[in-house]
Amino acid sequence: MANNSIVDSMSRMLFQQQFEALRQEYIQHLAERVTAITQQWQAAPLAVYDCDALDSLHRQTRSLAGSGASLGFSALAQVTHQLEQHFKAVLDQAIPPSPEQYRLIAACLQELHRTANLPDAAFDIEVAIGRPGSVLQHSLNESRLIYLVENNAVQAQELHLQIQQFGYQVRSFTQLEGLQQAVEQNPPAAIVTDIIFPEGDLAGIEAITTIQQDRNQPILVLFMSARDDITARLQAVRAGGAAYFVKPLDFSSLIDNLDVLTSHRAPEPYRILIIEDEPELATFYELTLHQSGMVTRLVTDPMQIMQPLSEFQPDLILMDIYMPQCSGLDLAKVIRQQEAYISIPIVFLSMETNQTKQLAAIDWGGDDSLIKPIPAERLVSTVAARVHRSRILCSFMFRDSLTGLLNPTRMKEHLEIEVARARRHHLPLSFAMIDIDHFKRVNDSYGHPAGDRVLKSLSQLLQQRRRRTNIIGRYDGEEFAVLLPNTDGAGAIHVMNEIRASFAMVRQRASNTDFSVMFSCGIATFLYCNDATALNNAADQAFYHARHEGRNRVILANHED
Ligand code: GH3
Ligand code: MG
Ligand code: MG
Ligand code: MG
Repeated sequence: MANNSIVDSMSRMLFQQQFEALRQEYIQHLAERVTAITQQWQAAPLAVYDCDALDSLHRQTRSLAGSGASLGFSALAQVTHQLEQHFKAVLDQAIPPSPEQYRLIAACLQELHRTANLPDAAFDIEVAIGRPGSVLQHSLNESRLIYLVENNAVQAQELHLQIQQFGYQVRSFTQLEGLQQAVEQNPPAAIVTDIIFPEGDLAGIEAITTIQQDRNQPILVLFMSARDDITARLQAVRAGGAAYFVKPLDFSSLIDNLDVLTSHRAPEPYRILIIEDEPELATFYELTLHQSGMVTRLVTDPMQIMQPLSEFQPDLILMDIYMPQCSGLDLAKVIRQQEAYISIPIVFLSMETNQTKQLAAIDWGGDDSLIKPIPAERLVSTVAARVHRSRILCSFMFRDSLTGLLNPTRMKEHLEIEVARARRHHLPLSFAMIDIDHFKRVNDSYGHPAGDRVLKSLSQLLQQRRRRTNIIGRYDGEEFAVLLPNTDGAGAIHVMNEIRASFAMVRQRASNTDFSVMFSCGIATFLYCNDATALNNAADQAFYHARHEGRNRVILANHED
């Protein structure tokens, strides 16, 4: 934890430096921009309505106001915003400004010059950027110690064993007494606790509430209960419960949550494509999102959108509505007309306070619109919430429902993408096919549900052991596939052999016995294959070798065959 807080404060410092640099850059060009606006305004003849000139003035003030506010120059942003409103009014009325409008604009310009000469020096960065890293806060927790609190001895023992199978260190408590003291002495990575105890029907939640009260950093808690009513669920959330499971437990869902929340399998960072023509604003968005652990790609010219869209594969698009070459609304339509991008959330960034226009933006395929200036915290929370939801929805479309792994169609798409990437960048790529040995016998001897649990346990093991870039799919029944980018044959054998050995050691449980299961695996490397099909076939061949040589083994394709 100590190391993590150092990393945390270092990244914070770096962020502050970058943010400050951005502010300095803004200040440097400020006088120039203000002078340009003033001169253009003064050059406009009094009695003429010049639509182009006004439009340009309106655009410049809007941009100055938007980035000024995001960078914390609030006084300046306020004056600029007033000025922008005046320009907008003249534009809308489509006749030359009245003497009163002239007077107001001149006053604003004067005020603008005054503020531009003394931009707000002190600026509370804490307030502006919010709590950094809050989105992925749990991802820094590396301990594997779990406190299991369950007063039913039989259930407790069963759960204890199961959680242990997945590499956690478990300490069981059969009563609430002593839990708080243990947490104080040795805080675990997570507490998994029942709710109903002899002390009361919500005793588990009450005990957790007391424990959390005294802590600076709350402990990660997962509740499980026979209760499935709104009262219990609400209390659980208020006590800081990160997940809630109804008994009988869906065990693999519990492990999935533990893995994700304690970050043994941290979620892939959110990938955000930013389309914004204002360089300062764009940098501000990038910095803010990076600070929360997201990955960004910036496009400042909307005409250059196609390649980043397919190569970067964003989770979400953050799109400016007003850009010189084309409007964000049209661009959203273009994106949505391509089937592959139909489900990517698009969040518009606009200065539009007009409700009708905001609604129009949503009609055109935007999912939300944020009004500039956008406080950093609002930006992060909106983006994070959208991506979170969209990833869950996508998982229903692209993933196998039993194991949560990619379905065959998606897996084949990834195979094509990775082969193309390996070819383009001359990088190694390995492909492994796995087939569980004698799986039919598991179903026949222990029943179909036990077979399902075996399939889930293999998928969980594959996900726990995988590297970030590995792509895992369930092909068919008891067949799985793993794509290992940037990995040569020897590397792939090493990884798959470790997984094979671990899997063989897992004690699979049936109603009153346990047993073990093994798998065979064939690997091929792209170096020796022409395309995805050849790679697939070579891995298949290697797998048949493994099976014929006695199963429970990993074999690399002999590409001279
Ligand atoms: P081998 O070692 O030669 O691969 O034989 P095997 O028994 O592992 O493989 P086979 O292909 O003969 O049988 C696979 C079995 O997997 C048949 C099918 O009923 C079962 N199966 C397929 N999908 C599921 C599933 O989702 N759950 C369960 N429990 N069984 C499944
Ligand atoms: Mg713009
Ligand atoms: Mg098979
Ligand atoms: Mg099999």
